[in-house]
Amino acid sequence: MSTTVLRNSVSPVNTIIVLGPPGSGKGTQCQRLAEALGLPHISTGDLLRDHVSRGTMLGLQVREVMNRGELISDEAVLEMLRGRISQADCGHGFILDGFPRTRNQAEMLDQCFVDAGASVRQWVFRLMVSEEALFRRLAGRRTCPRCGRIFGPLSVSTSKCDVDGTDLIIRPDDREDTVQTRLAVFAQTVSPIVDYYANSNSVVEVNADRPIEEVTNSILRELHRRENVNHEVQSSVNAPGSPRSTLRRHKPRGQANG
Ligand code: AMP
Repeated sequence: MSTTVLRNSVSPVNTIIVLGPPGSGKGTQCQRLAEALGLPHISTGDLLRDHVSRGTMLGLQVREVMNRGELISDEAVLEMLRGRISQADCGHGFILDGFPRTRNQAEMLDQCFVDAGASVRQWVFRLMVSEEALFRRLAGRRTCPRCGRIFGPLSVSTSKCDVDGTDLIIRPDDREDTVQTRLAVFAQTVSPIVDYYANSNSVVEVNADRPIEEVTNSILRELHRRENVNHEVQSSVNAPGSPRSTLRRHKPRGQANG
């Protein structure tokens, strides 16, 4: 699979990785960061659900595994992700939601940059939420099957997506027993990923048990505070000297300066 876009990128590829259990608000935060920073939001869960709804070969292979709340094979997810990050809009970077889910995936992604000879800067955020809050958020959450937006229990009066008017659904993997499996899978897999990134970057823990705007603001503040700190993938091929800043900052919609 070609990674020409990464190879041809003249400035470092900014990769923002957001780790967090189901219900931690990863999708919402990644979406807001994407708008604020002008980078594409790549959710491997959304990409996989798109394959399932289109009935592609991959979709048929992964549907049952997803419905059980288990993980898809590292190779299949990476193959799909490589296809996405090879697209033109990813040349300056992207925000990863739901990837990596294993240490092996993290290593494979870094190898992919090394193979492409791409210069990369990575930031890793880990959303921290109490288990009690996770259950509260996941119970009754509904999703727009078209655009993937998530509507929490507080918007119970809404039955349609306020962006495209599609009828909202409860995702099969948001049912209670599957949520238990997904939380258990996350708990088992997160430490090796954090350990992996701790070698080259510090993983920033973010208290995500706060209003959405506050969480976004603290991530943006941290990003800009660390922008001049070296966060390059250790093994990547980088030109000497400090990389030019490519992170744009916009004010997220409807919020005060953070
Ligand atoms: P998410 O929307 O991120 O909660 O992902 C939904 C489901 O898609 C997960 O429970 C997994 O079955 C699958 N999935 C998403 N991303 C990955 C990944 N990086 N590796 C393996 N499976 C994944």
